[in-house]
Amino acid sequence: MKKTTLIVLALIGLIASGALVPSEAARKGSGKGGSPAAIPTLTATETDDLLFMREEEKLARDVYITFYNKYERRIFNNISQSEQKHMNALLSLLVKYGLDDPALGFGQFSDPELQSLFDTLVAKGRTSELEALLVGALIEEVDMEDIIHAIQRTEETNIQRVYKNLLAGSENHMNAFVGLIEKITGTPYVAQWITQEEVDAILGR
Ligand code: ZN
Ligand code: ZN
Repeated sequence: MKKTTLIVLALIGLIASGALVPSEAARKGSGKGGSPAAIPTLTATETDDLLFMREEEKLARDVYITFYNKYERRIFNNISQSEQKHMNALLSLLVKYGLDDPALGFGQFSDPELQSLFDTLVAKGRTSELEALLVGALIEEVDMEDIIHAIQRTEETNIQRVYKNLLAGSENHMNAFVGLIEKITGTPYVAQWITQEEVDAILGR
Protein backbone atom coordinates (compact mmCIF):
# COMPACT_ATOMS: atom_id res chain seq x y z
CA MET A 1 0.00 0.00 0.00
CA LYS A 2 1.27 3.46 -0.80
CA LYS A 3 2.39 5.60 2.08
CA THR A 4 -0.15 8.32 1.37
CA THR A 5 -2.95 5.77 1.44
CA LEU A 6 -1.85 4.73 4.90
CA ILE A 7 -1.82 8.34 6.02
CA VAL A 8 -5.31 8.89 4.68
CA LEU A 9 -6.63 5.71 6.25
CA ALA A 10 -5.04 6.68 9.56
CA LEU A 11 -6.55 10.15 9.38
CA ILE A 12 -9.98 8.74 8.77
CA GLY A 13 -9.59 6.34 11.65
CA LEU A 14 -9.72 3.12 9.68
CA ILE A 15 -6.53 1.69 11.14
CA ALA A 16 -7.48 2.59 14.68
CA SER A 17 -10.88 0.97 14.25
CA GLY A 18 -9.25 -2.31 13.25
CA ALA A 19 -11.16 -2.49 9.98
CA LEU A 20 -8.02 -3.56 8.12
CA VAL A 21 -7.46 -6.64 10.27
CA PRO A 22 -8.71 -9.67 8.33
CA SER A 23 -11.86 -11.03 9.89
CA GLU A 24 -12.02 -14.50 11.43
CA ALA A 25 -14.27 -15.64 8.60
CA ALA A 26 -11.87 -14.35 5.94
CA ARG A 27 -8.93 -16.17 7.57
CA LYS A 28 -10.85 -19.43 7.78
CA GLY A 29 -12.00 -19.11 4.20
CA SER A 30 -8.45 -18.83 2.89
CA GLY A 31 -7.35 -22.22 4.25
CA LYS A 32 -6.42 -25.04 1.91
CA GLY A 33 -8.20 -28.34 1.50
CA GLY A 34 -11.80 -27.29 2.13
CA SER A 35 -14.58 -27.52 -0.38
CA PRO A 36 -14.41 -24.93 -3.19
CA ALA A 37 -15.19 -21.57 -1.65
CA ALA A 38 -18.87 -20.83 -2.02
CA ILE A 39 -19.66 -17.32 -3.18
CA PRO A 40 -20.49 -15.52 0.06
CA THR A 41 -23.75 -13.70 0.33
CA LEU A 42 -23.17 -9.98 0.64
CA THR A 43 -25.01 -7.80 3.08
CA ALA A 44 -27.43 -5.25 1.65
CA THR A 45 -24.89 -2.55 2.47
CA GLU A 46 -22.07 -4.35 0.68
CA THR A 47 -24.31 -4.80 -2.36
CA ASP A 48 -25.43 -1.18 -2.35
CA ASP A 49 -21.82 -0.02 -2.06
CA LEU A 50 -20.67 -2.14 -5.01
CA LEU A 51 -23.51 -0.92 -7.22
CA PHE A 52 -22.90 2.68 -6.18
CA MET A 53 -19.14 2.50 -6.68
CA ARG A 54 -19.60 1.01 -10.16
CA GLU A 55 -21.69 4.04 -11.14
CA GLU A 56 -19.50 6.52 -9.29
CA GLU A 57 -16.45 5.38 -11.27
CA LYS A 58 -18.58 5.67 -14.40
CA LEU A 59 -19.50 9.22 -13.43
CA ALA A 60 -15.80 10.08 -13.22
CA ARG A 61 -15.12 8.44 -16.58
CA ASP A 62 -18.05 10.14 -18.36
CA VAL A 63 -17.22 13.58 -16.92
CA TYR A 64 -13.57 13.31 -17.97
CA ILE A 65 -14.46 12.12 -21.48
CA THR A 66 -16.86 15.06 -21.78
CA PHE A 67 -14.13 17.51 -20.72
CA TYR A 68 -11.54 15.89 -22.97
CA ASN A 69 -13.88 16.35 -25.92
CA LYS A 70 -14.30 20.02 -25.01
CA TYR A 71 -10.76 21.03 -23.97
CA GLU A 72 -8.58 18.31 -25.50
CA ARG A 73 -6.35 18.34 -22.44
CA ARG A 74 -4.52 15.04 -22.20
CA ILE A 75 -5.06 14.61 -18.44
CA PHE A 76 -8.79 14.06 -19.03
CA ASN A 77 -8.13 11.35 -21.60
CA ASN A 78 -5.52 9.58 -19.45
CA ILE A 79 -7.60 9.61 -16.29
CA SER A 80 -10.80 8.57 -18.09
CA GLN A 81 -8.94 5.42 -19.19
CA SER A 82 -7.95 4.73 -15.59
CA GLU A 83 -11.61 5.15 -14.54
CA GLN A 84 -12.57 2.62 -17.19
CA LYS A 85 -10.20 0.15 -15.50
CA HIS A 86 -11.80 0.91 -12.14
CA MET A 87 -15.24 0.30 -13.69
CA ASN A 88 -14.01 -3.02 -15.11
CA ALA A 89 -12.68 -4.13 -11.71
CA LEU A 90 -16.08 -3.40 -10.15
CA LEU A 91 -17.90 -5.18 -12.97
CA SER A 92 -15.81 -8.29 -12.23
CA LEU A 93 -17.01 -8.13 -8.62
CA LEU A 94 -20.64 -7.70 -9.70
CA VAL A 95 -20.33 -10.80 -11.88
CA LYS A 96 -18.59 -12.73 -9.11
CA TYR A 97 -21.35 -11.97 -6.61
CA GLY A 98 -24.15 -12.43 -9.14
CA LEU A 99 -25.33 -8.81 -9.12
CA ASP A 100 -26.93 -6.99 -12.05
CA ASP A 101 -24.83 -4.19 -13.51
CA PRO A 102 -26.50 -0.80 -12.92
CA ALA A 103 -24.36 0.98 -15.54
CA LEU A 104 -26.35 2.60 -18.36
CA GLY A 105 -25.28 4.44 -21.53
CA PHE A 106 -22.86 7.39 -21.63
CA GLY A 107 -23.95 10.21 -19.30
CA GLN A 108 -26.87 8.13 -17.96
CA PHE A 109 -27.14 6.85 -14.39
CA SER A 110 -29.50 4.49 -12.58
CA ASP A 111 -28.89 6.35 -9.32
CA PRO A 112 -30.79 9.66 -9.51
CA GLU A 113 -28.30 11.41 -7.21
CA LEU A 114 -25.41 10.47 -9.46
CA GLN A 115 -27.42 11.63 -12.48
CA SER A 116 -27.98 15.01 -10.93
CA LEU A 117 -24.34 15.23 -9.79
CA PHE A 118 -23.17 14.39 -13.31
CA ASP A 119 -25.38 17.07 -14.85
CA THR A 120 -24.23 19.69 -12.32
CA LEU A 121 -20.52 18.89 -12.65
CA VAL A 122 -20.58 18.86 -16.45
CA ALA A 123 -22.35 22.23 -16.49
CA LYS A 124 -19.78 23.66 -14.05
CA GLY A 125 -16.80 22.33 -15.99
CA ARG A 126 -18.09 23.68 -19.27
CA THR A 127 -17.66 27.26 -18.01
CA SER A 128 -13.83 27.14 -18.18
CA GLU A 129 -10.90 24.78 -18.31
CA LEU A 130 -9.90 25.72 -14.74
CA GLU A 131 -13.43 24.87 -13.57
CA ALA A 132 -13.19 21.54 -15.37
CA LEU A 133 -9.92 20.73 -13.56
CA LEU A 134 -11.49 21.77 -10.25
CA VAL A 135 -14.41 19.44 -10.97
CA GLY A 136 -11.84 16.69 -11.55
CA ALA A 137 -10.22 17.28 -8.16
CA LEU A 138 -13.65 17.44 -6.50
CA ILE A 139 -14.71 14.13 -8.04
CA GLU A 140 -11.54 12.51 -6.70
CA GLU A 141 -12.14 13.92 -3.20
CA VAL A 142 -15.72 12.62 -3.13
CA ASP A 143 -14.61 9.30 -4.61
CA MET A 144 -11.94 8.79 -1.94
CA GLU A 145 -14.36 9.48 0.89
CA ASP A 146 -16.94 7.07 -0.55
CA ILE A 147 -14.32 4.36 -1.17
CA ILE A 148 -12.98 4.62 2.38
CA HIS A 149 -16.49 4.30 3.80
CA ALA A 150 -17.14 1.29 1.56
CA ILE A 151 -13.89 -0.36 2.73
CA GLN A 152 -15.05 0.08 6.32
CA ARG A 153 -18.39 -1.57 5.57
CA THR A 154 -17.09 -4.88 4.17
CA GLU A 155 -14.95 -7.72 5.46
CA GLU A 156 -14.71 -9.37 2.04
CA THR A 157 -11.00 -9.28 1.22
CA ASN A 158 -11.64 -9.48 -2.55
CA ILE A 159 -13.77 -6.38 -2.37
CA GLN A 160 -11.40 -4.55 -0.05
CA ARG A 161 -8.52 -5.24 -2.43
CA VAL A 162 -10.39 -3.67 -5.36
CA TYR A 163 -11.43 -0.68 -3.26
CA LYS A 164 -7.84 -0.09 -2.15
CA ASN A 165 -6.69 -0.07 -5.77
CA LEU A 166 -9.39 2.46 -6.55
CA LEU A 167 -8.23 4.57 -3.62
CA ALA A 168 -4.62 4.54 -4.80
CA GLY A 169 -5.83 5.54 -8.28
CA SER A 170 -7.85 8.43 -6.89
CA GLU A 171 -4.82 9.70 -4.98
CA ASN A 172 -2.81 9.78 -8.20
CA HIS A 173 -5.62 11.49 -10.08
CA MET A 174 -6.04 14.08 -7.36
CA ASN A 175 -2.30 14.85 -7.44
CA ALA A 176 -2.42 15.25 -11.23
CA PHE A 177 -5.43 17.58 -11.19
CA VAL A 178 -4.04 19.67 -8.34
CA GLY A 179 -0.70 20.06 -10.14
CA LEU A 180 -2.42 21.65 -13.14
CA ILE A 181 -4.83 23.71 -11.05
CA GLU A 182 -1.97 25.24 -9.06
CA LYS A 183 -0.04 25.96 -12.27
CA ILE A 184 -2.99 28.00 -13.51
CA THR A 185 -3.94 29.75 -10.27
CA GLY A 186 -0.47 30.10 -8.74
CA THR A 187 -2.01 29.45 -5.30
CA PRO A 188 -2.19 26.32 -3.12
CA TYR A 189 -5.14 24.03 -3.76
CA VAL A 190 -8.04 24.43 -1.35
CA ALA A 191 -9.96 21.29 -0.32
CA GLN A 192 -13.49 21.11 -1.74
CA TRP A 193 -15.05 18.08 -0.02
CA ILE A 194 -12.79 16.24 2.45
CA THR A 195 -10.77 18.22 4.99
CA GLN A 196 -7.74 20.31 4.09
CA GLU A 197 -5.69 18.08 6.41
CA GLU A 198 -6.70 15.00 4.43
CA VAL A 199 -6.02 16.71 1.12
CA ASP A 200 -2.60 17.88 2.31
CA ALA A 201 -1.72 14.34 3.43
CA ILE A 202 -2.65 12.99 0.00
CA LEU A 203 -0.54 15.70 -1.63
CA GLY A 204 2.35 14.86 0.71
CA ARG A 205 2.29 18.28 2.39
ZN1 ZN B 1 -11.50 5.76 -10.03
ZN1 ZN C 1 -10.16 8.97 -10.39
